[in-house]
Amino acid sequence: MTKPKIYLIDVTNRDGVQTSRICLSKLQKTMLNIFLNEMGVFQSEFGFPLTRHETNYLNANLELVKNGALAPIRMGGWLRATKDDVKNALKLVPRLKHVNLSISTSDQMIIHKFKGKLDHQSVIKEMIEAVKEAKRLGVESIGVNAEDASRTNMDYLIEFAQAAKKAGAERIRYCDTLGCDTPFSIYERIKLLAEALNLPIEVHCHNDLGLVVANSIAGAKAANDSGCDAYINTCVNGMGERAGNADLVSVILAIKYGNDMKNYFFDDRINLKIAWKICKYASYAFGVPIPINQPGVGSNAFAHESGIHADGALKDRRNYELYDYEELGRGEPEIIDTGRKITAGEYSGIKGFRNVYDKLEIVFKDDAEATKVLELVRYANVHNQKPLVDEELKFVAKYPDIARKIFTMTP
Ligand SMILES: [Zn+2]
Repeated sequence: MTKPKIYLIDVTNRDGVQTSRICLSKLQKTMLNIFLNEMGVFQSEFGFPLTRHETNYLNANLELVKNGALAPIRMGGWLRATKDDVKNALKLVPRLKHVNLSISTSDQMIIHKFKGKLDHQSVIKEMIEAVKEAKRLGVESIGVNAEDASRTNMDYLIEFAQAAKKAGAERIRYCDTLGCDTPFSIYERIKLLAEALNLPIEVHCHNDLGLVVANSIAGAKAANDSGCDAYINTCVNGMGERAGNADLVSVILAIKYGNDMKNYFFDDRINLKIAWKICKYASYAFGVPIPINQPGVGSNAFAHESGIHADGALKDRRNYELYDYEELGRGEPEIIDTGRKITAGEYSGIKGFRNVYDKLEIVFKDDAEATKVLELVRYANVHNQKPLVDEELKFVAKYPDIARKIFTMTP
């Protein structure tokens, strides 16, 4: 028997963007998918296949999957677990191969959200129909989400999950939707669930009690201890509804460096070197600064001032640093132009635009190609409403036709 592993499914482009008061453009979501792929994340929950303004973005990103730009990462869509939603979503996004189908399972939500429309047995029935419809339409992997799993009666949760497995689900997502679990309660509950089910478990936690990373690790450990793979849901910089989801970098650090985590096997594709780049980018894209004390990437994460600590860290970094900043892609000087700077924006002309791309060492075949990309860069600026970063400029030049689809929205 192979040892069970821990994988990551990042949900920044789903839970992250459904957070109040913040949002990402479709180009920014695409860039995050690209960076998540570089980081070795198993799957990106890349959006809502039934939401019309996502359609072009989702289809364009599935083209990037097809041409190898987004590989080996999987792109997964989030849907309500109803047959109609699955059917309509696959009409809009026909190449969708990975989905998570979500339905509430707690008494609280079945009684007070569905208000008589669904009871415990019809919740299971709806979910089964949705899973079967997804299979029928060629979806390759299906995760079934038990929303509010942490407040769900344990016997019912197991019954629900077993029905999902029988219908063809490959994973069950245990959602601590309100963030009420503790590491102790989630360990116990996922242990019971995984032992009864013998199926990979996704651990989806929220930070309402400040326990999100601890709960995610404890949940994954329980799944592995029961012989099942675990998939932790993360968000870059801990974005996500209310107090947020599990921070991507903190989860990786906790698995790699936490006491007692040595015996657990982590997806070996994970490349922490991308941490600095993805966190800085997400902070810029969301317009939300990284707190100075954020694990790994905060500006104080490797800063020492007090006499004893500074002296100790200088003598041997291991005196006061658990891991190395280089490992997170930090430590390189970042060059900021302080003299003349030509930027490419909504109203750029061809001369300035070519200067920007010359600096990125991108050469255009001829004037026609340069003009075509310039036009798209103007649209990209309108779309993002902030100056483009180098990676975005490179993306538009490399995949102009896909970029055009990403910017296209027809209400
Ligand atoms: Zn959530």
